[in-house]
Amino acid sequence: MTDIFETLESQVRSYCRGWPATFDRADGSALFTEDGQQYLDFFSGAGALNYGHNPQQLLEPLLDYLRSGSITHSMDMHSPAKRKFLETFQDVILKPRDLDYKIMFPGPTGTNTVEAALKLARKVTGRQHVLSFTNAFHGMTLGALTVTGNSMKRQGAGVPLTNSSKIPYDDYLDGEPSNLSWLERVLEDSGSGVDKPAAVIVETVQGEGGLNSARASWLKSLSEVCKRHDILLIVDDVQAGCGRTGKFFSFEDAGIVPDIVCLSKSISGYGLPMALTLFRRDLDIWTPGEHNGTFRGSNPAFVTATAALENFWADREKFEQQIAARAAELHDGLEKVAALAEGASVRGRGLLAGVVFQDLEAAEKIASEAFDRGLLVETSGPESEVLKLMPALTISPEDLARGLDILLDAAKTVVGERELAAV
Ligand SMILES: *Cc1c(COP(=O)(O)O)cnc(C)c1O
Repeated sequence: MTDIFETLESQVRSYCRGWPATFDRADGSALFTEDGQQYLDFFSGAGALNYGHNPQQLLEPLLDYLRSGSITHSMDMHSPAKRKFLETFQDVILKPRDLDYKIMFPGPTGTNTVEAALKLARKVTGRQHVLSFTNAFHGMTLGALTVTGNSMKRQGAGVPLTNSSKIPYDDYLDGEPSNLSWLERVLEDSGSGVDKPAAVIVETVQGEGGLNSARASWLKSLSEVCKRHDILLIVDDVQAGCGRTGKFFSFEDAGIVPDIVCLSKSISGYGLPMALTLFRRDLDIWTPGEHNGTFRGSNPAFVTATAALENFWADREKFEQQIAARAAELHDGLEKVAALAEGASVRGRGLLAGVVFQDLEAAEKIASEAFDRGLLVETSGPESEVLKLMPALTISPEDLARGLDILLDAAKTVVGERELAAV
């Protein structure tokens, strides 16, 4: 029953290769194939399903909206659904956090908000160069690929990727604390040969790049260096945002305020395509239409995004506590997995966490064993050497424990096999 995918669909497809099933229905953290097999989802659409599949609190307003005869598509024209989203985002997210951002709707994908952020930073500063980090991932269109690290993905561009340099992410030099004084030095030294950049773009946790997680103090230093040198700080919160690392924005714990913020994946809350670019009010120097797109006004996405904010974020403390409790359970479970293998350790923050193995093949083998046992987990990192877990923020403690048991069992099989092979 998978013939048509193999004969007609391009071989560019990737996730379906590790998970050769045909998924049909879904509910919360449960996924069902068309022949009725059940899987537990610790992948969550790479972070597009932070509130689980088909969350009831979002489904009802969505169905009501679709039945009401209200508009679906509206470019960037005004609509009541967009008004309600903007009001809710202001009241539930921006105001309580003292953030004075303007909101831009780029095209509905993560790479599109990154493109908008890079364009705006270049336009505001009149500079071309952008600094990004080793193992960064910011999307697959040309501008976003330019600031992405992965060589396989970069090669896909087919043209030179220019106007960006990679600099070492926190902890890149193996535990060597990096206080960014070297960055300050090359920016000050007119003989350093480093062009003054328009912006620095950073993920607080590198979702695709191996779950490297920056320390709050490092993010603070980065923010201070940028401020001192009049360089814009862009936080790409496409994956780590929307509660994934514990707070709505992943940079809240570091106490920094980026100049530009990119959001997408879980902003609609329902897996509907939607993206936002947030920026300091004084940076809003766009000419009307200078960055536009046909799908910037998807009203069903505005409706579910509004419902997600109302249902999960209006009582911010309660939801943050719930995420913290699940995150502690997840990290406990991951410590047990890491303890099985020599040199393995836990990485990540909040519900964006995993285990890195010395054996570069271990993570993929464990993910495959987990799939055979009914659990979806993916891998991350340049060699897919990191097992990556992203359960729904709303997962029940029971489902989380069940998934971690499966994972431990799968890991024992793989690590045990290795030990036998070594004898
Ligand atoms: C997924 C992701 C993107 C790209 O989003 P798309 O919707 O796939 O274009 C950009 N940045 C980060 C950090 C991501 O995780």
